[in-house]
Amino acid sequence: MFIESQELPPIGTNAFALIEPSRKECVIVDAPADAYDWAMQVAQQHDCQIVALILTHGHWDHILDGHKFADAGIPTYGHLADTEMFAAPSRMASYAIPGLNLLPVPIEHWIKAGDTLNLLGDQLEIRHVPGHCPGNILVYVASAQAAIVGDVIFAGSVGRYDLPGGDFSVLEQSIQTQVYTLPDATLIYPGHGPNTTVAKEKEGNPFVRV
Ligand SMILES: [Zn+2]
Repeated sequence: MFIESQELPPIGTNAFALIEPSRKECVIVDAPADAYDWAMQVAQQHDCQIVALILTHGHWDHILDGHKFADAGIPTYGHLADTEMFAAPSRMASYAIPGLNLLPVPIEHWIKAGDTLNLLGDQLEIRHVPGHCPGNILVYVASAQAAIVGDVIFAGSVGRYDLPGGDFSVLEQSIQTQVYTLPDATLIYPGHGPNTTVAKEKEGNPFVRV
């Protein structure tokens, strides 16, 4: 398996594709604007079928294109704690860029901490990492030594905790118990900005110490 990523509009949110060439399948994680077209290109380029869209959390900039995946019959995955944002993203309109059409994303599979998703002939481990928002999950792919983490942690920073449902002490606990406990070599793919590793953040993240 290998992972491709793309920073997408309107505020530079990363989307990811987990691609398994041996099965001609891929899984998309997060759906900023234009993610659907990007995912279609990736699928075509690697001759694979999109078998799932996993949403790391319900914030508008991560789910803008989600309805297009659902409309295309691609199974969608999200955490129950963000139900309201998936069902009525317009409630977050005051935090979004004005004029966007925030459409609901029907979630087919509700996922929770400790779930293992058997996709791509692999096991994707779901960890619950609230604090940035109640339903943020991370997807840990042991075989790829990679974790796609949404907005819980960034290279040298952490996710905002001043939005509705955010809480710094919860965020700190999520990072300490769910992120820093991954193997040191694990590549962290955040929802914004560049990749980092568990070791680097444990060593130098100024917001959450080990
Ligand atoms: Zn967010």
